[in-house]
Amino acid sequence: MVSGTHRGASEFDLIERIRARAGTRDDVILGIGDDAALLQVPAGKHLVVATDTLNAGVHFPHDTAPADIGWKSLAVNLSDLAAMAAEPAWCTLSLSLPESDAGWLDGFLDGFLALAAQHRVALVGGDTTRGPLSVCVTVHGFVEPGRALLRSAARAGDDVWVSGMLGDAAAALDQWRLGAAHDEVLRTRLDRPTPRVALGLALAGTAHACIDISDGLMADLGHVCRASGVAAELDLEALPASEALRVAYEGEQRHALQATGGDDYELCFTAPAGSLDDIARLAAQAGTSVTWIGRIVAGEGVQVFDADGQRWSPQRVGYEHFG
Ligand code: ADP
Ligand code: MG
Repeated sequence: MVSGTHRGASEFDLIERIRARAGTRDDVILGIGDDAALLQVPAGKHLVVATDTLNAGVHFPHDTAPADIGWKSLAVNLSDLAAMAAEPAWCTLSLSLPESDAGWLDGFLDGFLALAAQHRVALVGGDTTRGPLSVCVTVHGFVEPGRALLRSAARAGDDVWVSGMLGDAAAALDQWRLGAAHDEVLRTRLDRPTPRVALGLALAGTAHACIDISDGLMADLGHVCRASGVAAELDLEALPASEALRVAYEGEQRHALQATGGDDYELCFTAPAGSLDDIARLAAQAGTSVTWIGRIVAGEGVQVFDADGQRWSPQRVGYEHFG
């Protein structure tokens, strides 16, 4: 097929379309085009690597726009780097496409490369194959030794914080599943999550443990508690809710979305009690809102308490692929 046709472009046409638009950086010695990329890691830093796959119908609704799939596939990966307090640098992109559709690819790249440019991330390689629609991205970043924010670093007495708002993405998915009138603001939070890269970087040196919320607050904070050998007590009424969520959901349903809904890609972190002013200042510098939601205590598991101080339990705790 001749390059430039839409359906039926060859694998090489598709790769060339990607190469022509991929950004670069000074530390990319060799990007797309050879058997592998050559990259210069800054002296004295650790290389931080994360990878995440998005499958059609599992990680995004089938009606998701190509540009949104592109954005989200990079965003969820940058979110993992953010949770480690790493500075993003490079990424690779493995694309499995049901058909060779250059129009679809162009849309995908619009979203993917817009977010890459925002974070000065260079696309340095990948793979392009035929198969069910699936996008696998790997991101690479740097952190100074000892400064990464680990899941295992929470301590009894820490405060628990969360960035942004909780439950918006899960609410959008709920509306989509019900075929209900859907709210654009919520749907955008599902399709275009904001990786909290600046916040993660700002928190290094002050926060203790950190995780990004992909499977739901209780499930993900549960990972932190397990890794740290501690428990968490959360205040249900303290969980932040957006205006859009408050309008569309109330009571028990809203609480469940906030405490257990996935896909928000906010950061949940712990910090020593008494660092409240520091956290507020760092969050303001990063341009991201943060909310105190509870405390780390001795024990195990995540417990949530309602306004009356009663133990609150959701129907289910979070998304699990093989659950
Ligand atoms: P090989 O057969 O050696 O793996 P490929 O034909 O798969 O080579 O890839 C050729 C070049 O294009 C490589 O540099 C590879 O990293 C890059 N590439 C292939 N697919 C993608 C993609 N989806 N995104 C970015 N780079 C890609
Ligand atoms: Mg290859």
